[in-house]
Amino acid sequence: MEYISTRGEAPVLDFKQATLAGLAEDGGLYLPKVWPSLSTDNIRKLRGMDYPTLAVEIMQHFTGDCIQSSTLATLAGRAYRGFHHDAVAPIKQLDNNLFFMELFHGPTLAFKDFALQFLGQLFDHFLRQNNARCTIVGATSGDTGSAAIEGVRGLDAVELFMLHPAGRVSEVQRRQMTTITDKNIHNLAVAGTFDDCQSMVKAMFNDPVFRKKHSLSAVNSINWARIAAQVVYYFWAALSLGAPDRAVNFSVPTGNFGNILAGYIAKKMGLPINRLIIGSNRNDILTRFFQTGCMEQTGVHPTLSPSMDIQISSNFERYLFELFSRNHEELNRCMIELNRDGKFSIDTTTLNKAQQDFSAHRFCDEKISDEIRRIYQSSGEIIDPHSVIGVAAANAENDNTAPTIVVGTAHPAKFPDAVKNAIGVNIPLPAHLGDLLTKKEKMTTVENDVEKVKAIVG
Ligand SMILES: *Cc1c(COP(=O)(O)O)cnc(C)c1O
Repeated sequence: MEYISTRGEAPVLDFKQATLAGLAEDGGLYLPKVWPSLSTDNIRKLRGMDYPTLAVEIMQHFTGDCIQSSTLATLAGRAYRGFHHDAVAPIKQLDNNLFFMELFHGPTLAFKDFALQFLGQLFDHFLRQNNARCTIVGATSGDTGSAAIEGVRGLDAVELFMLHPAGRVSEVQRRQMTTITDKNIHNLAVAGTFDDCQSMVKAMFNDPVFRKKHSLSAVNSINWARIAAQVVYYFWAALSLGAPDRAVNFSVPTGNFGNILAGYIAKKMGLPINRLIIGSNRNDILTRFFQTGCMEQTGVHPTLSPSMDIQISSNFERYLFELFSRNHEELNRCMIELNRDGKFSIDTTTLNKAQQDFSAHRFCDEKISDEIRRIYQSSGEIIDPHSVIGVAAANAENDNTAPTIVVGTAHPAKFPDAVKNAIGVNIPLPAHLGDLLTKKEKMTTVENDVEKVKAIVG
């Protein structure tokens, strides 16, 4: 399996190289040169498998010759054994034709564990093969940091430095990072904002000497292997509801576009998906794009669903490349304009095509609270302020050609304040995190100065 960059100027890589590289040299994102394709019969044969087995079946279409299937099975087994539900990704019914897939039974209670638990195993495997080590540096405003830490803790070949803005992440989110005491994990609390943290990470990557010396690597959502691992749960849910003999819709609370992109890829591979529905909060750059054909940055507003508070959806570039029938020049034009003017537009024909691929709906904080309350009253289910946007988007779309599966991205206990405000219920942390608030924390406080951060990295 060969991987090419969206911008067309980086070398063609195999799965292993693309995983270790993360971002392409030309600033683009890697994706398969040809989408794998599964026949109806082949999809039918996947029915009834447990989650790790299905993960191997789907992932081997992407890993190609890079990993033997027995090895892949070992890695998938390790990635998903830490999940606290035997089904790994259980599916509940919320209403007539409306289903809810819970992707929050992993170690950090958010869907990012599905990709990052697997990515940690892949990094470890590939680095050992190369007899190499790497240093991962990242910045987080919440969910990604803890999921990345849980994904690589205890691995010999990886050292991880995670920057977070001191005093600006919730106590639960901070403790999910700082109570991990494995010696390869380093939490840096930076006296600054999330943007400061992110600029420092960028500065470290842009220093070629430093980058080489430490074999810097990234695990942010542009890493292809993360998307590949997410394709699995789209197959899982659709198979559970009768695919390939019955089509389904998916409704996905969306920020960086990584999650729903995996659904789009599952459809390209032959999975019968009718509608892919994007739910966004007030940060509605995607919703506006699918309405008007113009992508325009307007600044970030804090909302009740902080993991979707994004300025720009980094994974959207992969979809745009497909939308332009893989024309690098068209894509480059848009990326240059976005960088220079903060916006770009597509023509009406292309917009029509995009509207056939995705629907999009946006919801304000008030609607988020109302919807948490409405679902609690009608079904007894407590839904977190991200996933609830998926439910609201499914209802707004109101497509009854197929059952709709909402992709549940976080456990409600991760956002106790929003839940309490909506329904007056104090929701406890699951048992495996019960001692989170009393465990000892380990972190280093550092000034908002990239040289000080570099000195800590080594
Ligand atoms: C990261 C995240 C999202 C957004 O996912 P994208 O892949 O960035 O679209 C939604 N909900 C939660 C809880 C998240 O952590």
